[in-house]
Amino acid sequence: MAKVVFKKDKSNQLLLLPPDIGSLIPDNHLVRVVDKVINELKLSPLFETYKGGGASSYSPRMMLKVITYGYIDKIYTNRRIEKALKENIYFMWISGMSTPDFTTIHNFRSKRLKEAVDDVFGSVVELLIRSGYVKAENIFVDGTKIEANANRYSYIWKKNVERHESMIKDKVKNLLLHIDQLQQEEDAEYGSHNLEELEGHITTDQVDKLVEEINQKLSKGSKSKQAGSAVTKLKKEYIPKLNKYDQQKDMLNGRNRCSKTDTDATFFRMKEDHLNTGQLKPGYNVQIATEDQFILGYGIYQKAADTSVLIPFIEKVKTQLGGVPKNIIADAGYGSEENYDYIKDNNIGNYIKYNNFDYEKTNDHKKKIFLSDHFEYDNSKDQYKCPTGQILDFIGTKKNISERGYISKRRSYKSRCCDQCSYKSSCCKGKNSRTIEISPKLIKFKNKVKRNLESEIGKILRSKRGVDVESVFGQIKHNNQFRRFYTRGLKNVSTEWGIMSIAHNIKKMAN
Ligand code: SF4
Repeated sequence: MAKVVFKKDKSNQLLLLPPDIGSLIPDNHLVRVVDKVINELKLSPLFETYKGGGASSYSPRMMLKVITYGYIDKIYTNRRIEKALKENIYFMWISGMSTPDFTTIHNFRSKRLKEAVDDVFGSVVELLIRSGYVKAENIFVDGTKIEANANRYSYIWKKNVERHESMIKDKVKNLLLHIDQLQQEEDAEYGSHNLEELEGHITTDQVDKLVEEINQKLSKGSKSKQAGSAVTKLKKEYIPKLNKYDQQKDMLNGRNRCSKTDTDATFFRMKEDHLNTGQLKPGYNVQIATEDQFILGYGIYQKAADTSVLIPFIEKVKTQLGGVPKNIIADAGYGSEENYDYIKDNNIGNYIKYNNFDYEKTNDHKKKIFLSDHFEYDNSKDQYKCPTGQILDFIGTKKNISERGYISKRRSYKSRCCDQCSYKSSCCKGKNSRTIEISPKLIKFKNKVKRNLESEIGKILRSKRGVDVESVFGQIKHNNQFRRFYTRGLKNVSTEWGIMSIAHNIKKMAN
């Protein structure tokens, strides 16, 4: 048997000179790209978050490099970054052997970076444009839901709050009426309080005022024991409950459901539903705008519908990009009259599909001849003609006002008579003759969008959309395994996604 030879065990061997960590890091390593890119960024807004005075602070540029490299290396929490700074040579090299602890990292992230992350991201985008990585011309927009760092099973549900509140308000009303009855015999002494105020909507302030009023009267005159205990019940049980419901309604802020552990998070149906249970989870609606798989804009929203967040998102992208993009490409989830009008007002090329753009090309659509799309319009008479030749006359205009106050006018047309029509059951919903509602403005927008999407450039942009923006979400969610936020609250989550976007762009530059 040949002799086994082992290499010498050099553990615990003392070195004459400390090793140069830089010599251990390959020239093309990602950490060097992070260092180089962040050295080139204009970080004055970040520096301005420091007020001065007191002990010296770690360099914000170094802190930004460390956190960004952490997000590239899938190290997201402050404690794990603190650990990496002591154990990982890449972190040691990029921090220059500085070892800020997790509280310092947390404070930097939640106080300094929170204020300046949009500016830092804007500086990265500016560098991308300046260096020729992107032109910021064709912007692909899409959104995804990312789970919040919140308990999945503890939430505030609007319907429950309203139900419980109404029950308590009924009890309050009854109790006050009961007190009033008790006091009627002693009206001369007490005077009666004004329960008429309680008609209709009761507010917590009203109840508070009445309890105070009753209390004062009780202390003046002969005490009714029963009235006294009723007032105590009101004060100790019902008023705190009403206050709680008021707070919960503030937290809901118009949403149907929000999380108790991260009140800014909304309950959504998520794509990642492996058990197919349809369970709602607390999360945020993350919107990004990309070009050549670089993130050029991001925004975090609490509403689920992409249609309703497009305008605030594009407004944000404009500041992040420092201008208006030439074209916007997005799927049908974003197509609405309000959004189309906004895009037109901003002179942006519109490549946003409308909801039935793809469906229009199907046989099913062609077969459904009773869809209003198949009714013929006579411009000179302002009439529609149904597939059987019946005339639909203009009967009035309806106004729809969106959450943002956009007014969309829908013109209604009613068929002269459908009674004898053998297709009535397929064409009309009720017993009445068929009525259709049309927005001429939306039809104009749709025709324009259709021409854009079916042009040569439109076809190229459409085929690129899925590859461009969706693969960015794929890289972040699957390659980086970032499927849940690590911080709580809208502002913190937005900062976190900002760091993730900076990290993604630098990684992409390195590639
Ligand atoms: S039901 Fe009325 S609108 Fe519909 S196809 Fe018949 S006549 Fe035309």
